[in-house]
Amino acid sequence: MENQEKLALSIRKEMIQFNLKRMRTVAWTLMYVSTIITIIHYGEIFFSKTERAMVPAYITIHVILFYIDLAVLLFVKEKKIQISTHNLRKYESILLAYIYTVLLLITVITAIDVYFFKHAVLYEVLFLMICTVFAVPFRKFYWIILITVPAILISAYISHGISSESIDIFLPMSLIIPIGLVIQRHTYKVQKQFMTQHILLDEEMIKSKQLATLLAKKNNELSEQAYRDTLTNLPNRRAFNNKLTQIGQQLNNSKSLTVMMIDIDYFKNFNDYYGHLQGDEALIRVAALLKEIAEKYNAFAARWGGEEFVFVSQHALKFAEHVCEEVLEEVRYLNIRHERSKIADIITVSIGMCHVNVSNIEQLKTCCDLADQALYKAKQNGRNTFYSKNENYDEGVCSPI
Ligand code: GH3
Ligand code: MG
Ligand code: MG
Repeated sequence: MENQEKLALSIRKEMIQFNLKRMRTVAWTLMYVSTIITIIHYGEIFFSKTERAMVPAYITIHVILFYIDLAVLLFVKEKKIQISTHNLRKYESILLAYIYTVLLLITVITAIDVYFFKHAVLYEVLFLMICTVFAVPFRKFYWIILITVPAILISAYISHGISSESIDIFLPMSLIIPIGLVIQRHTYKVQKQFMTQHILLDEEMIKSKQLATLLAKKNNELSEQAYRDTLTNLPNRRAFNNKLTQIGQQLNNSKSLTVMMIDIDYFKNFNDYYGHLQGDEALIRVAALLKEIAEKYNAFAARWGGEEFVFVSQHALKFAEHVCEEVLEEVRYLNIRHERSKIADIITVSIGMCHVNVSNIEQLKTCCDLADQALYKAKQNGRNTFYSKNENYDEGVCSPI
């Protein structure tokens, strides 16, 4: 119901906008017509031999018409007009007032015209034009016909009785008025249908645009989720693999690459002693710290799986060693109690690092394997330390505890 009302209101607004546009066209036309007729009447005053007493009155009415049209052209600028619920009635009234005034003025001019016929034709042409051009509902229109048409016919009868002149007026009128009304109904119906379809189509387009945006958003969210670890919110293993592929694709020439595998020491013991939930909590804290360090050094951090994390960066060897030391130190600084660790009473990590110059994707994978092997060595070397393998496969370098 509410939708129906909204639709009806939108149609009404569109119709008014359409009619205002048409009103300007009619005003232009009538302005020219009034000017030409006024000039002709002035001609009659100056050059005609036959006296026409009412000519000044015709001129006055045509001049009034001219100014009404001019006012419409000056004040009704359809591009500037924004039809809203508040001004809807106002513009509807302006439009109807224009139609009524023009028809009434032509009726007056026809009624006072001694020769009737010319102005009756003007009325008929104007009537047909209004019926064709404007899309106005019949109920807003019929009473102006009820006033103007009988007025013209009665005045024709009064001045000429039942004569050939009054029949000249009556016959065309009785044909043109019904034809005009049929045209008017048709114009209104067609225009209303067109507007309704236009509005519904617009609404559908807006809806489908909104749906497309929503779908794109949901898709983004889904792919975000597919590449994110739900517990720590770090990129997951899949995202890490993507990153490696991306680095591989950008390898035009040899590039230095560092991969660090970071593994929490004796984490199974931690879980067994403190429980899984606290284990999760510890993982989240370590992950947040690693994310911070990675951002600081422009490295890429991901959760490799379980209690293992991975860093990938393109730093020089010395700098990578410095990052390893910082990670070891910052994790200790987190000061997460770990009563069941065999090497300290807080959580610590071991790091396996590989630093190589890579020139193809295969070497990238080897680099990860080497980092994994280095991690194994770090564990063997007593944990809470890092072990590095580099390009020349020189191994070693352990940080002091
Ligand atoms: P090491 O020092 O040799 O690395 O010993 P570790 O106990 O850390 O290694 P191990 O591979 O034996 O155990 C890893 C543990 O990590 C096992 C599992 O309970 C725990 N873990 C893996 N993923 C999660 C997780 O998402 N949440 C929690 N709470 N624990 C996890
Ligand atoms: Mg471990
Ligand atoms: Mg492990």
